[in-house]
Amino acid sequence: MIADIHNHTYYSGCGKDHPEKLIEAAIKGGIEVFGISDHNYGIDDRKSNYVNQIRQLADKYKDKIKVLCGIEISSYYYQLPPEDWDCHEFDYALVENLQNDDCKITDIPAFAKKFKCRVGIAHTDLFYYCKNRKLYALDFFKSLASANIFWEMNMSYDSIHGWREHTYMLEFFKNEEQQAIVKESGIELSVGFDGHRIEDYDPKRIHYACNKIEELGLKLVNI
Ligand SMILES: [Zn+2]
Ligand SMILES: [Zn+2]
Repeated sequence: MIADIHNHTYYSGCGKDHPEKLIEAAIKGGIEVFGISDHNYGIDDRKSNYVNQIRQLADKYKDKIKVLCGIEISSYYYQLPPEDWDCHEFDYALVENLQNDDCKITDIPAFAKKFKCRVGIAHTDLFYYCKNRKLYALDFFKSLASANIFWEMNMSYDSIHGWREHTYMLEFFKNEEQQAIVKESGIELSVGFDGHRIEDYDPKRIHYACNKIEELGLKLVNI
């Protein structure tokens, strides 16, 4: 399966494209499952517009691609969605910024549970996270897996991030010790381009990561 479930549209302040343009680019790029995941603080009070629009497009293109309606949630204390904001109408939520000082969340499974949908951790070096907090990596990954939380391999490479690649992802794909821990824990992985500019979209990177995960005998999340 070739799945890219991290993408931004004009609902994110940092994005600019119509969701339909993204879906067309994904189809052209041979993506089979495509998730749109705009920022919670970008969607803000337009949640029902956003969901309706993505669902309509999902229906329009259903013979060519499976389109998912997701969201990316910032865990910075000043960007958190309101307490009563659950995400049951989304297919999944990606949580970001967990490793930063402005995130006050310590119990990730408890935090994830509030959203009432499948939750993944976006672009975070979880091995560094464990080291920093003196957590035993295998136990930590097992605790995420048993809460049904998945971990993203972020394949972003674009102009708005200065053409950088995430070093945790590069490391994971070559580090057999890390791969063994992830395998044993049973945690599922997702892949996302995290695109913000249609002209930067490179589906080859998604194919590479999905194939690599399969080759390594690891599990790609299936939402
Ligand atoms: Zn992000
Ligand atoms: Zn993002």
